[in-house]
Amino acid sequence: MNLEAPLDSLKGIGEKTKHLFETAGIETVGDLLTYYPRAYERYEEPASIQDLPQDEIVTIQGMLTTPIANRYYGGKCISTTACSDGTGEVLLTWYNMPYQKNSLRTGVTYIFRGRTKKKGKRLLIEQAAVFHEEQYAVLTTTLQPVYSLTKGMTVRMVQKAVKQVLSSLQPSVHTSENRVAQDTAALKNTTYADYLPEELRNRYHLCPWAEAVSQMHFPDSFDSLQTAHRRLAFDEFFFFLLQLQNLREHREQETHSFHIRAKGAADRLIASLSYELTGAQKKVWADLLRELQGEKVMVRLIQGDVGSGKTILAVLALLTVAENGYQGALMAPTEVLAAQHYDSICRLLEQSGLPYKALLLTGSMTAKQKREAYAQMESGEASIVIGTHALIQEKAVYHALALVITDEQHRFGVRQREMLAQKGSTPHTIVMSATPIPRTLAVILYGDLDISVLNEMPANRLPIKNCVVGPSWRPKAWDFIEKQVQLGHQAYVICPMVEESDLVDAENVMEYTETIRKALPAEIHVEYLHGRMKPLEKNEVMGRFLRNEIQVLVSTTVVEVGVNVPNATVMLIENADRFGLAQLHQLRGRVGRGDAQSYCIFLHSGKSSEIAERLDILNHSNDGFEIAAKDLQLRGPGELFGVRQSGLMNFRLADVYMDADVLQLANEAVTKIIAEDPELSLPEHREMKAIYQRQKNRQSGQISL
Ligand code: ADP
Ligand code: MG
Repeated sequence: MNLEAPLDSLKGIGEKTKHLFETAGIETVGDLLTYYPRAYERYEEPASIQDLPQDEIVTIQGMLTTPIANRYYGGKCISTTACSDGTGEVLLTWYNMPYQKNSLRTGVTYIFRGRTKKKGKRLLIEQAAVFHEEQYAVLTTTLQPVYSLTKGMTVRMVQKAVKQVLSSLQPSVHTSENRVAQDTAALKNTTYADYLPEELRNRYHLCPWAEAVSQMHFPDSFDSLQTAHRRLAFDEFFFFLLQLQNLREHREQETHSFHIRAKGAADRLIASLSYELTGAQKKVWADLLRELQGEKVMVRLIQGDVGSGKTILAVLALLTVAENGYQGALMAPTEVLAAQHYDSICRLLEQSGLPYKALLLTGSMTAKQKREAYAQMESGEASIVIGTHALIQEKAVYHALALVITDEQHRFGVRQREMLAQKGSTPHTIVMSATPIPRTLAVILYGDLDISVLNEMPANRLPIKNCVVGPSWRPKAWDFIEKQVQLGHQAYVICPMVEESDLVDAENVMEYTETIRKALPAEIHVEYLHGRMKPLEKNEVMGRFLRNEIQVLVSTTVVEVGVNVPNATVMLIENADRFGLAQLHQLRGRVGRGDAQSYCIFLHSGKSSEIAERLDILNHSNDGFEIAAKDLQLRGPGELFGVRQSGLMNFRLADVYMDADVLQLANEAVTKIIAEDPELSLPEHREMKAIYQRQKNRQSGQISL
């Protein structure tokens, strides 16, 4: 089985399914295999009916009190009955499933699972999934994968296709029987080989790749899932570090021919600011200025927590380059952020009366707009270019690029950084990141970058007031938002999901927007934002929020990165227990960016006091790494599985915080292999080299929100 083969080379994948998969970004067989579950669920033990909560996904065990009745309305069938377990009774209905009438009998114990609803004084479960006792018992002991599905896709669809690929992959794949059919005919055309030599796998106690992938989709146990995760995290780190190695080698011999001197533009801008730079900002600016004027090519990481004021440093550096007749580029991971940087730089140029031209270049601009932008970049008319990865595309030619800055660096792959650096003749490089990581890891992840730390917050900041509350507090939270809006402020509400889902019990952006819109006075504008919207739509919504034409923004975590709306003072996070603490910390950083008192409300699902205790860590720490470490301590790796902590570097599975030990091993492995075989030309490294090349080519175009 060739991993690059298109999906329709699989049996049973027709045009329609192929298209569905494509909308989820699955185009090749390899994409399918690495479409890992987002999380795993273990089905809960049945609860007694008398204790059932309203509007939650529940499991009950009992018998039907009456035979099912089918009634027809305009061609549609509604089947109704009730179920009792001795403690109480609940109504059951199914739509367009008339066959339930014949398949479910009275006098037999069944298990039903679905969402409860209030119907008059009684509780109702619609479209409950039905299980026999033995069948359900298996589900309570195995882990059920939860995939991020797009409309029309089902778990079964994914699993069936994955099974087919797995069964053709390797004869030795270990999975529990009857899960992966051993298709002997398919074994004949097995061309797949593990890229990691056996010797290396043994040394680092890593399981074979095919086994790991198989376990990700069909885990036998929690232990085997962890083993699989460890192997795949190793792979991700491994290839990332191979690329980094490559980048580092290129850089080693670098000198530059720019002649840069501070001629007053930066000072003029500083003088025009409404605030004074913090001590830390002054110190880092001195570092940057010294290196811009020096002989060596600058390669520096600015690490500073959310809101510490990194942008202004980027602007000062860009201006200094511009006043010397060169160009500088600032690359942001999202269009929203790029547009925001562009606006604030234009404003700063205007208020300080500096004559330099800034330009915005993003993927969603029309071909004509792009052509004009390219022309201004090539002629040198624009000295400050701000954009997304459009900045590194082939057509982007610069006149005299001397400085390249990537904001929220952790969102980019190494390859993108490298491509931007190749645009000029070895320009100075600054990367900015809000994610604090300990020195030992920074040295591995950022290679030989010099590191500046912004460890001081602007003085005007009032500490954010936090509270951790259960769902019964929601009406008060909305009242609070209303009051803040009446004071002229704005609010974010974060929901984990985009749309309603049968499997996951969590708030979703679309429905939430409707509900809160109705609950708030009509003059308060509520809008939504999520990652599946088109870039133009996202920009438009963000722009309106920035101008306070929208007061309440209901959003997924797309706002996590870098967005700066200082007038927003409330952050309400729904289902806060579904997020990693480090991520919550990033989200919280969207408020508290201006002079006004800001508030962060963590609303959890209210099931245990542990959750409140865990979230309470956020009250006591402001250091992302410390927060993640405490989270790990409190919950243990088991519970944290599938919860992304850092989102650092855009790894898919690996997490720099939680898999720090694997990162160290991968680093050791890469160092050793490169020392022995720098070109990866030995036969045992052939497969490895092929994957490396493929990833490198792929990554150049790919960026995720
Ligand atoms: P981040 O480090 O998260 O990128 P930003 O650069 O977006 O933070 O800065 C956050 C906000 O703080 C912006 O509105 C910016 O104008 C403001 N700011 C930056 N430096 C200072 C300072 N020294 N004093 C007061 N406000 C500042
Ligand atoms: Mg920023």
